[in-house]
Amino acid sequence: MAPIDTTKTASKPHEVVIIGSGPAGHTAAIYLARANLSPVLFEGLLANGFAPGGQLTTTTDVENFPGFPDGIRGSEIMEKFRAQSVRFGTTIHTETISKVDLSSRPFKFWREGQEDQEPELTKTIIFATGAKARRMNLPGEETYWQSGISACAVCDGAVPIFRNRPLAVVGGGDSAAEEATYLTKYGSHVYVLVRRDELRASKIMAQRLLSHPKVTVLFNTIPVEAKGDGELLNAVRTKDTKTGEEKDLEVSGLFYAIGHEPATALVKGQVDLDEDGYIITQPGTSYTSVKGVFAAGDVQDKRYRQAITSAGTGCIAALEAERLLAEEESL
Ligand SMILES: Cc1cc2nc3c(=O)[nH]c(=O)nc-3n(C[C@H](O)[C@H](O)[C@H](O)COP(=O)(O)OP(=O)(O)OC[C@H]3O[C@@H](n4cnc5c(N)ncnc54)[C@H](O)[C@@H]3O)c2cc1C
Repeated sequence: MAPIDTTKTASKPHEVVIIGSGPAGHTAAIYLARANLSPVLFEGLLANGFAPGGQLTTTTDVENFPGFPDGIRGSEIMEKFRAQSVRFGTTIHTETISKVDLSSRPFKFWREGQEDQEPELTKTIIFATGAKARRMNLPGEETYWQSGISACAVCDGAVPIFRNRPLAVVGGGDSAAEEATYLTKYGSHVYVLVRRDELRASKIMAQRLLSHPKVTVLFNTIPVEAKGDGELLNAVRTKDTKTGEEKDLEVSGLFYAIGHEPATALVKGQVDLDEDGYIITQPGTSYTSVKGVFAAGDVQDKRYRQAITSAGTGCIAALEAERLLAEEESL
């Protein structure tokens, strides 16, 4: 763990603090460091269940991040992000921020384990704490996670293990409908497992799904076990929620589309969140409901949830924080 930085006491606010270490946080850090704003980034110590570097550290190959024509390991690309942040002068602490007070500026924040101490201060703050896909914790899920089980069709659908094979999607909402339709490009057939006897998806999405020749919607059906040969998934045990009947569905892929949980516990009640708990940003910006507080990446994006879009919004947050600090400096 990095030594505790005692130079920043309550009387010396940081210019900008970034909380989170995925593509959004590091992109913000790179821009702010190059702008000589000495950003301080808290990368977390297994915050929200992720190692420093965020969600991409849990995947194998990333094939859709521009600049890496041969693909790159998820953990390797995040090491590169981090090295670039450090190269330009970002101070990185491997600690989790456990408490913030955004009621007045400079904002106050506390590191985990130091909540009873004097807070540290910052003039601006960027939340890039990310999100986590909901999982089902099925028997076999740990074994086949990223070896047949995924929570992102756009990220993983094109991977060879899924090509021309039967696949399954769990969920009945718009995301499930979108993911299943997307997967028809790659899989030989796509089964959609829906707990209830109807889809929650919008009418148009539901219609598109139900009429797709490569899709079968299995109503009143839930997965109860992920099965395979020890290396790759090859079946999902399903259960009929009405009759209790169980059977094996032979599939090479199981995609969860049952929602995400944004890491916003820290700011709940202090900045405006939407009904699903995501930080609300003004469209096209990283501005939140509190001046000086910016949000970037998956913590404010429930639609795209990609590394490149997170990096893009990290850049926006950095430029907006920099602009605000410059305006206030000139007053
Ligand atoms: C298995 C998997 C595969 C994926 N594959 C791809 C892919 O191929 N291509 C693609 O574009 N996208 C992919 N994604 C999506 C991509 O990973 C995310 O869109 C992206 O990582 C979001 O970046 P982020 O910066 O918002 O935060 P995250 O990556 O979510 O990282 C946030 C970080 O902040 C830390 N943190 C949280 N709270 C605190 C706190 N209080 N204090 C300090 N630190 C904190 C967390 O520990 C975490 O490390 C994949 C996601 C998963 C789960």
